[in-house]
Amino acid sequence: MEKINSFKSAMQQLDNAAKVLKLDKEILAILRQPKRILSVSIPVRMDNGEIKVFQGFRVQYNDARGPFKGGLRFHPQVDMDEVKALAFWMSIKNAVVDVPYGGGKGGIIVDPKKLSKGELERLSRKFIDLIYKDIGPHVDVPAPDVNTTPEIMAWMVDEYAKLTGRFEPAVITGKPLSMGGSQGREEATGFGGVEILKAAASARKLKRGASVAVSGFGNVGSFFARLAAKAGFKVVALSDSKGGIYAPKGLNIEKVEEYKKQTGALKGYPGTIDVTNEKLLELPVDVLVPAALENQIQKNNAKRIKAKLIIEMANGPTTPKADVVLHRRGIWVIPDVLSNSGGVATSYLEWTQNLSGYYWSREEVLKKLTAYMANAWKNVLAVQRQHKTDFRNAAFILAINRIAEAIRARGV
Ligand code: NAD
Repeated sequence: MEKINSFKSAMQQLDNAAKVLKLDKEILAILRQPKRILSVSIPVRMDNGEIKVFQGFRVQYNDARGPFKGGLRFHPQVDMDEVKALAFWMSIKNAVVDVPYGGGKGGIIVDPKKLSKGELERLSRKFIDLIYKDIGPHVDVPAPDVNTTPEIMAWMVDEYAKLTGRFEPAVITGKPLSMGGSQGREEATGFGGVEILKAAASARKLKRGASVAVSGFGNVGSFFARLAAKAGFKVVALSDSKGGIYAPKGLNIEKVEEYKKQTGALKGYPGTIDVTNEKLLELPVDVLVPAALENQIQKNNAKRIKAKLIIEMANGPTTPKADVVLHRRGIWVIPDVLSNSGGVATSYLEWTQNLSGYYWSREEVLKKLTAYMANAWKNVLAVQRQHKTDFRNAAFILAINRIAEAIRARGV
């Protein structure tokens, strides 16, 4: 296993792009550190009457292009270096897809599965009590991430309203529809990913009906698989945490979803071959879609990957060393900061609807999202061709250049 420090990797990616851009030292120095880190202790009255104190924080990385923007995760192993990297990557992603946001990320060190619903609500509200002066529709706009839900976002918006005396749904995105959430948000990340798949497959000159393997069958992976099949791709393999299935002739995604609902797993689906999660990544397919965890593709298995095109739907599924191997082998890796940016682009559409108080239909939202994805693809492809580099570096060059322009325009 490779030893991975996410923030170090992020800074390496920044340096690679800065070198091509011949970025001034002052701007590079600004981008090497988050602008601010909020760290709070959150006392919560537990159901048994005791008080327990949790640690929470928010990394506000860069706001040159607009308010900080990024998710909040509730996880027992929240690691500061990782959250700093994720906040930096959000700054990049928002600049790649060209929404007027900076980047941020945060969370609480907690295993939410060990809390009652009441405890979880009190924890979420108390976190907002402690940070509400440092967030806001034009300051910092959180959203759901690992183990946080639309319901938690609703409690947070309500708490913010109590403290400020104003109901401002634009302070947080990823809300339930009843509280100003956006139509189309649920499928947005998978939908945006398939728009990138269609464009990249065509640029890579893959034949019609190219085969696709998707690792991870959660929110992102299941919408991606369904929409890819609808777009004429042959989805031949799927997996979840319990293992995967493979059918060289193709899968009927709706039927597989029904089977998973009934049995709780993909494994054993009639007419398919069971494969391990590791093997799924190495199947003889045209397109591989990691849509589950980070660091799934490392230096060792990168040598065995047979796909011609990788669409990164998870955040950080490929390690920097694996990236080098894949690039050398001529495999195109379309990076997470482009492929899964449909999620945050639709969060932006949610925010604009909240600010204007005028709401769009699902069709209107997805039409606007399609335009954002097409534009992002076109711009990254142009940089990739201009600099004859890989797609990740191209996306970083595009984004860092946009952020640097905003820093210069505002003045240091
Ligand atoms: P999810 O929890 O709904 O789904 C994750 C899926 O991965 C589950 O089906 C789980 O069983 C499966 N899984 C777990 N371990 C696995 C393994 N070893 N091999 C294969 N599958 C495994 O999460 P999600 O919202 O679909 O997010 C997936 C990834 O996409 C994450 O990296 C997330 O950060 C990223 N992402 C999500 C969004 C979004 O809008 N939901 C936006 C951008 C990026």
